[in-house]
Amino acid sequence: MSIKGCAPGWVARCPKCPYQVDLESLGWTRIGAYSWGKRHSVHCPDCNRTRWMRILHVDENGEPDQPFGLVLRKVLGLQLLIWCGVLFVLALIAVVGMAVVKML
Ligand SMILES: [Zn+2]
Repeated sequence: MSIKGCAPGWVARCPKCPYQVDLESLGWTRIGAYSWGKRHSVHCPDCNRTRWMRILHVDENGEPDQPFGLVLRKVLGLQLLIWCGVLFVLALIAVVGMAVVKML
């Protein structure tokens, strides 16, 4: 089952022929996703084989619009957010621990 708007702009491209398929029609969900160099096995009806297709986000002209630098910045930004959260929780535990030690 495919729902419109679950993978907007995402396509799979066959490496051996010009075949390209909309990932929404395959039932994929990729909302707000970023990837570079992703591949997945998808059946190509033109080659009549399952191929290791490139998974790409394309703009309205069909050109890939997620270069390596953009994906790297998104990944590092997310990592920064996660590690800041971890450090915040550790600092909170340390402060509470110190307060408990002082009370004893
Ligand atoms: Zn093909």
